[in-house]
Amino acid sequence: MSNISNDLALFNELAEALINEEEQHPVADRIDSDKLYDSIDLSLNDGGMIDDEFKAVLQEVLIATPKTATNLFFNQLFGGRQGKAVLGDLLAVLLNNSMYTYKVAGPQVGIEQEIIRQSCDLVGYGPRSNGTFPTGGSMSNYMALVMARDAKDPNCRLTGMSKPLVVYTSKESHYSNAKNVSFAGIGKNNIRYIGADAKGQMIPEKLEAQIIKDINDGFIPTYVNATAGTTVLGAFDPIDKIADITEKYQIWLHVDGAYSGSVIFSDKYKHLVKGVERSNSFSYNAHKMLGTPMTCSIILVNDKKQLHDSFSNEADYLYQTDGDDFNLGKTSFQCGRRNDALKFWTLWKSVGTSGLKQIIDQQFELADIARGYVSNHPDYTLYSFEDSISVCFNYKNIDPIKLCTALYEHQITVVGFGSFNEDTFIRLVTINANNLKADILNFFNVLEDYAANEMEFTNVKEKMMD
Ligand SMILES: *Cc1c(COP(=O)(O)O)cnc(C)c1O
Repeated sequence: MSNISNDLALFNELAEALINEEEQHPVADRIDSDKLYDSIDLSLNDGGMIDDEFKAVLQEVLIATPKTATNLFFNQLFGGRQGKAVLGDLLAVLLNNSMYTYKVAGPQVGIEQEIIRQSCDLVGYGPRSNGTFPTGGSMSNYMALVMARDAKDPNCRLTGMSKPLVVYTSKESHYSNAKNVSFAGIGKNNIRYIGADAKGQMIPEKLEAQIIKDINDGFIPTYVNATAGTTVLGAFDPIDKIADITEKYQIWLHVDGAYSGSVIFSDKYKHLVKGVERSNSFSYNAHKMLGTPMTCSIILVNDKKQLHDSFSNEADYLYQTDGDDFNLGKTSFQCGRRNDALKFWTLWKSVGTSGLKQIIDQQFELADIARGYVSNHPDYTLYSFEDSISVCFNYKNIDPIKLCTALYEHQITVVGFGSFNEDTFIRLVTINANNLKADILNFFNVLEDYAANEMEFTNVKEKMMD
């Protein structure tokens, strides 16, 4: 009954079927959410299921599940598939370690620390730096905020907050910032959203003016969250200029690079995070630009003492052998922690740092191709800018929300929409580094074909003539 070899054989069979299916049908057949429970047998019952039936239902589920690795998936800030990273994650599942102690994780501790050490070097942090693998970018932002809070109000950890702390982020930053200030006890009224310029980058002068006002009003400026790759436009906040301000007023600077912080791997694009070595903490998601399976988020801190001060707790039943440098539970949020490092390590080990650089550069190249196509085509309007892998556009006068929804509902391609200031547009994310120029051109092709053949999108004038 628990013969793992049979299960692995079944896995291989299902995996092959799935990959075949992805080639034949890059966009999954969509099941209306209100028909879901009638379409596939998802029920859990008193009796078990026998082999063939079990396999059949698994196959059905796989085929109906949205396909994020194909060349027509552009909806999210992740996509594609790096085989060597998948291999590492499968091994991590098989090994089933927990990352809190050396006793239980062994060499996996070294794997995680090697990634962190190399990442710190790329960022330009010094010998006191370290980091950890939180559950995702939202948690990375949260951990940074908690460290900033504890640095300003150290008693907070014992007696609760005793000072009127305020924090700052751009209005274009990730929504986890709003949740995090509430979790951290700072309160949503005490987050200041700083205006962004026409390209979506935080305006440092506005940041400083707000800080001065808050100081005069008796608040204590505590934390600035700068974004490397905003969620909609993929804009980079000017870190050097922001660091001038955070250093002047002694405020914690966190750089949220969940989306595009992986530019640290590219000689060509790392200038986009110039000044990042002056930050107190930096995070990036390898499951976004680097294409590892979900989730693989890394937070680095310039001074590991801060991580330890905020997240360590004695636990005699847990920490029984080895030193703190090997018992990673002393610097993490969770107790039991999944091994998210191995998949990144197998990828990095196999392609080398130069291979990771190519993954990053390829995405910018694909974005250049997409932007070039849009700006040379009179039926398109471009809303985004260079040095971003989010290519935002509208086609003819078609409502982008309706178009995205129709493309998805008819299994043409999966792409999302976004808004910046007054504009709403389609957002094509060229994050799948396995894509080629032809895949990007194919995306525009299928979109145009669909729009041309669907009555609902023929323009108003034609409709009136009908
Ligand atoms: C994706 C993203 C996050 C959140 O990361 P999760 O891993 O999804 O929690 C935070 N910040 C930015 C800028 C992001 O793009």
